[in-house]
Amino acid sequence: MEIVILTGASRGLGAALASLLLSPERRLICIARQPNPELEAAARAQSAWLDYYLQDLADLEATDMLAQSICDELPADASRFVLINNAGTLAPVARVEALPYDGIGAALNLNVAAAMLLTSRFLKGTETFAGARRIVNISSGAARNPYEGWGVYCTTKAALDMFTRCVKLEQARFANSAAIVSLAPGVIDTDMQAAVRELDPEDFPNVERFRSLKANNLLATPLDTARRIIEFIARPDFGTTEIDDLRNYPSPTETP
Ligand code: NDP
Repeated sequence: MEIVILTGASRGLGAALASLLLSPERRLICIARQPNPELEAAARAQSAWLDYYLQDLADLEATDMLAQSICDELPADASRFVLINNAGTLAPVARVEALPYDGIGAALNLNVAAAMLLTSRFLKGTETFAGARRIVNISSGAARNPYEGWGVYCTTKAALDMFTRCVKLEQARFANSAAIVSLAPGVIDTDMQAAVRELDPEDFPNVERFRSLKANNLLATPLDTARRIIEFIARPDFGTTEIDDLRNYPSPTETP
């Protein structure tokens, strides 16, 4: 039985990943603040094993307790362990002079520290496992290119990229090293994109580009992106390139 831990499974990309990962042959462990009744109904209908935890991942003390309780009890006889750190926030969006004091910490906690904690407890909980252990941190093109108004978001995703590189370096010494990738997923039609299109050009001068992507039907669907991420996780060379972009792996029907 494969074990997958997935954050941000209530909406958007995470909900699409969760819906595709449901299977009687897999134990899917999801974390988000809101429930996902459709997913829970689908799990019942398919007799799939779903554990769904309601947790604000920006609350690091509670997140650590949950991460430890999940990872301390992982079975030794699994076929493969996967952690997908997908939950993320774009907020706060503002030019640097106008940054609010309260959103910065929450974004750092969710986008960076929670992913660090889950990775830490996952690696510890599976350290004696001889089979495949794979971690995907959902990053962004914004980790690698600056955008006006997205100073917090770009910084958190760049931090996630660097954390990924450090983990890869540490894991290299182990015979059963876990593989880790920070993966930019492309531009996806989710609530986060809807929020991007609503941004004030004063705060985010690039807003028109994202409005035009939607108007021209150029956003990927969450399900298509989720399908490609699942294929990506299964690649034999997973982890070779630790900072990667899903757009480097176009579907056979797409042009690069
Ligand atoms: P959405 O805003 O649509 O969904 C975000 C998910 O994260 C939800 O399930 C939400 O659940 C969860 N989440 C948010 N805050 C918290 C919190 N404090 N605690 C626990 N869970 C939380 O985002 P997307 O699906 O678009 O994005 C998924 C990932 O992909 C993110 O990391 C994002 O940065 C990245 N990404 C997205 C792109 C896009 O174009 N959409 C482009 C590049 C990267 P709940 O509210 O129930 O807690």
